Amino acid sequence: MIPTMSDRDGLIWLDGKLTAWRDAKIHVLTHGLHYSSCVFEGIRAYEGHCFRLADHMERLLFSAGCLDMKVPFTVNELVDATKKVLAANKLVDAYVRPFVWRGSEQLAAAAPNNTIHVSIAAWAMPNYFDAIAKAKGIRLQVGEWRRPPKSCGPVHAKCSANYTITTLAKHRALAQGFDDALLLDWEDNVAEVTAANIFFVHNRELHTPRADCFLNGITRQTVIELAGKMSMQVIERRIAPTELSQFTECFVTGTASEITPVTSIGDLSFPGRSISSEIDAAYSALVRKAS
Ligand code: PMP
Repeated sequence: MIPTMSDRDGLIWLDGKLTAWRDAKIHVLTHGLHYSSCVFEGIRAYEGHCFRLADHMERLLFSAGCLDMKVPFTVNELVDATKKVLAANKLVDAYVRPFVWRGSEQLAAAAPNNTIHVSIAAWAMPNYFDAIAKAKGIRLQVGEWRRPPKSCGPVHAKCSANYTITTLAKHRALAQGFDDALLLDWEDNVAEVTAANIFFVHNRELHTPRADCFLNGITRQTVIELAGKMSMQVIERRIAPTELSQFTECFVTGTASEITPVTSIGDLSFPGRSISSEIDAAYSALVRKAS
């Protein structure tokens, strides 16, 4: 039998209560399912403690606000709930998925009075890209979809609507033998990878796109802070695909993917590893020290 996310042992925090995993259900006529009124987070627990947990919960509330949803819990309450979920499921190294959605009272595009629901689930998690792929680096293709400008949607929210092109681009990349896809922005500059931010290296300079039309990842912000302390210069700017051949190294950042080197984008190779290894070592130490 194929294992599913719904048929597992364990407990999920649902609207304030720990609920048996198999009973944590929503109705098929839920607004969040039909109209994408759903926001979420991805958090990583290392040695039993979550890295930047409160920052992730603040972003969850920010994302919900972008979709006109008032979350009926505070950041502190959500932080405590996450700790309960980890303890109840005896998880140490885990992925935590909090999410917020509009309920099922009214099923129409406008549903301002629908109830807002919150859930937090967690499960043991190995690396997002398997350990061998991570050490070797990942191969990207350029995706066919563009990240839209901020005038076209809540581009800084971690909302499910923004993941339509993530899923499509990643499906296509995997089907064509790549590990993931690089997404360009609406002006054809480099934006990010489907679920991670991207950095390019030239000597001790890190070049990364300005996060003006995509998620400004918490890992991205952490890497920028770490690089500053490691006497690397970080330059946030527009990066055209035609410029990529000048870079010797490339890596992606994200809660799930951590610091993962990129081997190639299409036909272009990035053989260097020295800067991404330095950043990876500093990041790995920090996420565990923060524990
Ligand atoms: N962009 C997208 C679209 C993502 O899904 C993620 C993963 N949350 C990131 C960037 C990286 O964000 P973070 O470092 O906060 O995990």
